[in-house]
Amino acid sequence: MQNVRLNNGVEMPILGFGVYQIPPEETERCVTEALAAGYRLLDTAAAYQNEEAVGRAIRSSGIPREELFVTTKLWVQDAPAQEHTERAFETSLTKLGLDHIDLYLMHQPFGDVYGQWRAMEGLYREGRTKAIGVANFYPDRLVDLILNNDVTPAVNQIETHPFFQRTADQELMRAHGVQIQSWGGFAEGRNNLFTHPVLSAIGEKHGKSVAQVVLRWLIQRGVVAIPKSVRAERMAENIDVFAFELTTDEMASIAALDTGASLFFDHRDPAMVTRLGGVRTTG
Ligand code: NAP
Repeated sequence: MQNVRLNNGVEMPILGFGVYQIPPEETERCVTEALAAGYRLLDTAAAYQNEEAVGRAIRSSGIPREELFVTTKLWVQDAPAQEHTERAFETSLTKLGLDHIDLYLMHQPFGDVYGQWRAMEGLYREGRTKAIGVANFYPDRLVDLILNNDVTPAVNQIETHPFFQRTADQELMRAHGVQIQSWGGFAEGRNNLFTHPVLSAIGEKHGKSVAQVVLRWLIQRGVVAIPKSVRAERMAENIDVFAFELTTDEMASIAALDTGASLFFDHRDPAMVTRLGGVRTTG
């Protein structure tokens, strides 16, 4: 597995397994199959409500803890920032059955972001998490967070796929030492991604699927990817992307698919801030 080196020297696999929208009762089986397929980076969140099942799969795998890279996320606050962050972190750790997290992400750029970040810095300094980062931060908020705090986020996990490529955002993050990580790398299949003619034609040339082309394109851009699947054969397919390479022309034809807009929603839309920022049921 190829790694990326985060801004604090921690090594992170460039490809992992995401468990969003996997029901808790299916998660243990899926994570067990993903670990058997070779994934070592697991991406969960308090809000996914499947941390316990992820923890059970980790324990029963017998894989040494140091070989795994576990990410979980802090949901929007429901108490003063310090108290909320410390309590949510302990809850996640207990549910996962771990003694540390590899990457703890602030899930949404809402609420007392600065208070939460300072509490996350505390967890990082105590060694409870090997790295801290954010998700869904647009460049303005990311730069402001960096300028006004001690620890620069190691990662920003953002919607990134062929129809919303984030190349300028990636450049800015690179300049600040922040690793880009893609969520929704397949756009969850929107825009008929899996049958897209450009992606299909590239796949045919290499004898690869559209999913493999997309993951290869992300990896060649230096973007960490965390595809989700509940099917063992797709888990195997999605990790089998290290033995072929896209040409410069192929990378350019995928670059031309960028629409520059989200296929989901904009985190800067006041209606979404109200909706997501008001969900206080987890974490
Ligand atoms: P995604 O990985 O873009 O797409 C998942 C969809 O693709 C599922 O419907 C899956 O179906 C299908 N699929 C997977 N492999 C396939 C293949 N080889 N061929 C055809 N279809 C395939 O979507 P995502 O789960 O939203 O994003 C990935 C991860 O990013 C999440 O699991 C989560 O960890 C993270 N995430 C983070 C945020 C955030 O706010 N930070 C938001 C969203 C997601 P099957 O399962 O039926 O195979």
